[in-house]
Amino acid sequence: MGFPHYKSKKHSRKSYTTNMVNGNICLQDRFLKLPKMQPVKIKLHRMIPEGWKLKSVTVSREPSGKYFASLLFDCENQTAEKRQAEKFLGMDFAMHGMCVFSTGERAGYPMFYRNAEKKLARFPHYKSKKHSRKSYTTNMVNGNICLQDRFLKLPKMQPVKIKLHRMIPEGWKLKSVTVSREPSGKYFASLLFDCENQTAEKRQAEKFLGMDFAMHGMCVFSTGERAGYPMFYLNAEKKLAREQRKLSRCEKGSRNYQKQKKKVALYHEKIKNQRKDFQHKLSHSLAEDYDAVCVEDLNLKGIAGGLHFGKGIQDNGYGQFLSMLGYKLEERGKYLIKVDRYFASSKICSVCGHKKKELALSERIYLCECGNRMDRDVNAAVNILKEGKRIYKKCA
Ligand SMILES: [Zn+2]
Repeated sequence: MGFPHYKSKKHSRKSYTTNMVNGNICLQDRFLKLPKMQPVKIKLHRMIPEGWKLKSVTVSREPSGKYFASLLFDCENQTAEKRQAEKFLGMDFAMHGMCVFSTGERAGYPMFYRNAEKKLARFPHYKSKKHSRKSYTTNMVNGNICLQDRFLKLPKMQPVKIKLHRMIPEGWKLKSVTVSREPSGKYFASLLFDCENQTAEKRQAEKFLGMDFAMHGMCVFSTGERAGYPMFYLNAEKKLAREQRKLSRCEKGSRNYQKQKKKVALYHEKIKNQRKDFQHKLSHSLAEDYDAVCVEDLNLKGIAGGLHFGKGIQDNGYGQFLSMLGYKLEERGKYLIKVDRYFASSKICSVCGHKKKELALSERIYLCECGNRMDRDVNAAVNILKEGKRIYKKCA
């Protein structure tokens, strides 16, 4: 309540000036009273001598979000009368210490200020705070990038301490680094490496698995099991949805909106990481256990858009999961077999091969004239497995 509100958060510096008219401004006991405002507590940076008359106040908001008031006073005899000069000093600007004197001394800009400035220089600055995600890529040229002992040194920057999320095998060569700032304000660096012999020689597939996307549990297998996306992740996602609704009710651009936006961004990031963690573990265990995994080459955007499932599908990151699974199988000389997405995996009976003309989304159990009674998703996964095996034999 106490501070003037500026319409824009985008323009980082704003100010306005009020002139003293009939005592509408009042400075007393470290409180400043401006027209149309409650008295605001201020820090006075110098004593106001007696007899000085307040003429105007300029209130400004610095890019840091702090408020400053410059007080203009009317005073008589502020400048002393000129006197004869006897002691002279020569002074020049200097990079180190700010200025150097004819006496041989330097001003000695304090070391802890210098350290603070270095800290400021540490992170790349992006021109806009408005666009929440920004990134830039630097290519390795003549060793201008250096990764050592958990420190990353980029061109024109001080070394930055980083958290490495996986071990870098020996012999890998750093090719480029992409630094990005997430909407939450955190910085990430993606390192691209060049390595040889990453993919093992292809071997013959014996153990096959069929897999299909499922709204519940993320995916379902031809074995009848489901991936079982953890419940506490789901709860976190529900909480995120709640925070997002809160955000939509905030007035755009307001303080609460900015605060809530940051909160949502942080939450989003947390959930993204939880999901990634789950996907890494699941794709790792599948790549270990099977020689070939058969999947439907889904057009995920098509599904999300066309059937009004909402954002859930893309959020589940099934596509991201498939690409993880793909490279993990590849590394082991195994296969990710993609079945055409127009192959009617859900309409065909996985036992007798009969194809239904219609199958409503609400029919969760697949019932066939041959007596087959199966979970709809499992039936589809079995069909994908059969089709994948057929494709593998044709190619082998
Ligand atoms: Zn059948």
